[in-house]
Amino acid sequence: MNKWRQIPGIDEIISQPEISRLLAIYKRDLILDLVRKAVDQVREDLKAVDQEVGKDLLRRQILDRVQGLVNRATIGSLRKVINGTGVVLHTNLGRAPMGERALDYVKEAAMHYNNLEFDLASGERGSRYDHIEQLLLQLTGAEGALVVNNNAAAVMLGLNTMAKNREVIVSRGQLIEIGGAFRIPEVMKQSGARLIEVGTTNKTYSADYEEAINEQTGLLFSAHTSNYKIMGFAQEVSLEELVQLGQRNNIPVMQDLGSGILYDLGEWGLKEEPTVQKCVASGADIICFSGDKLLGGPQAGIILGRKKHIELMKKNQLTRALRVDKMTIAALEGTLLEYLELDPARRIPALKMLTAEAGELKSRAHSLARLLQDQLGEKNDFIASLQVVMVEDMVGGGAYPTYKLPGYGIEIGFSSLKLEEVSRRLRGQTPALLSRNRDNKMFISVRTLLPGDDVILAALIKEVLY
Ligand SMILES: *Cc1c(COP(=O)(O)O)cnc(C)c1O
Repeated sequence: MNKWRQIPGIDEIISQPEISRLLAIYKRDLILDLVRKAVDQVREDLKAVDQEVGKDLLRRQILDRVQGLVNRATIGSLRKVINGTGVVLHTNLGRAPMGERALDYVKEAAMHYNNLEFDLASGERGSRYDHIEQLLLQLTGAEGALVVNNNAAAVMLGLNTMAKNREVIVSRGQLIEIGGAFRIPEVMKQSGARLIEVGTTNKTYSADYEEAINEQTGLLFSAHTSNYKIMGFAQEVSLEELVQLGQRNNIPVMQDLGSGILYDLGEWGLKEEPTVQKCVASGADIICFSGDKLLGGPQAGIILGRKKHIELMKKNQLTRALRVDKMTIAALEGTLLEYLELDPARRIPALKMLTAEAGELKSRAHSLARLLQDQLGEKNDFIASLQVVMVEDMVGGGAYPTYKLPGYGIEIGFSSLKLEEVSRRLRGQTPALLSRNRDNKMFISVRTLLPGDDVILAALIKEVLY
């Protein structure tokens, strides 16, 4: 038996009308590559078959493969993921999902001309940094504000502007590493500042800073230990104390706040992180934080503080390399404007998720379970169990590392397929679905589902069970 002889040649495939239609739209090289790939795949599949397969069938299989490969190649790689993990600010899933207004502003700015660097009142050149500065001052009470590419850039710019070739004093308990290679000692080195460590891992006193201060000292630096907590026999100097120390010695104080909260979430149990307004009021000279963590906006590094330092940062050559584009400015403005209202959690998705009430989550979990049950229909046999359960959600994004948000979700046990196989298939869908798996059960938290996700999710699960 020579089953291989039945495989149609490349030329024969290319002459098919299906391929001609593709060649009328896409570049020839791309289609030829994918045809070759499809032929290879079908040849590979044929290895497992021990009888002859007809030429017509093989041709059909190859053409279907080509169409599938074309679909995948032309859709792009970045795609929607339904977040069933219950981690609200999931760094691997793009952190904060943005709100309507942010999106509207981005679209408007991206598809039209705008006054990015044009002062419409005077008819002269303007600055891109003017757009959000007033709004940030209004919302936080700071004297000056500047926005750069991300918070890592903000820290770098602050250190470089205020302490290049000078000493920066940091507590050993705050020499943080944020996932993705952001380490304070390394950033310090890159910025040209010299790191002076004081205190110990668990205890640092005001006197430790005081003793390290000399004429080389350029800055007292405090990093919010956002992604871990030192508990037990531990002490850090508060920002207020550090500010007093700085003022007595005429040395500025900078705080890397990490995840800046503009809206107090204490009522929802999220008490420990200081709000941005409180840090500004403490008198710190410069504070910086991310735009896409608890703020709920786009990736950005927001720098607030004394006008004289901010003005020096604007003139720093580094700023040109770290500058934000019109889309970031638009998205950030669209997000910050929500904070002018009494309840920003209404329209900022990340805040909405964090402030969702238990009763609301519970009834949503019940609806989801019913929806899934209805969807599955005759495929119900694939499921061994389905129930509403309490789950522990997380803030994520390095904020509130030890705090578990009480939430609800559904727990699914599968009968004929392995949990890993179901998960793998779900990750391969469009949109992909990500869940938490534990004790051979799949957990889908409803907190991090966006409107409309419930229906799609139920359909996806049905789709992958076969
Ligand atoms: C998240 C974080 C950073 C890095 O912020 P990016 O916006 O991701 O660059 C820096 N410092 C702290 C304390 C953080 O929590």
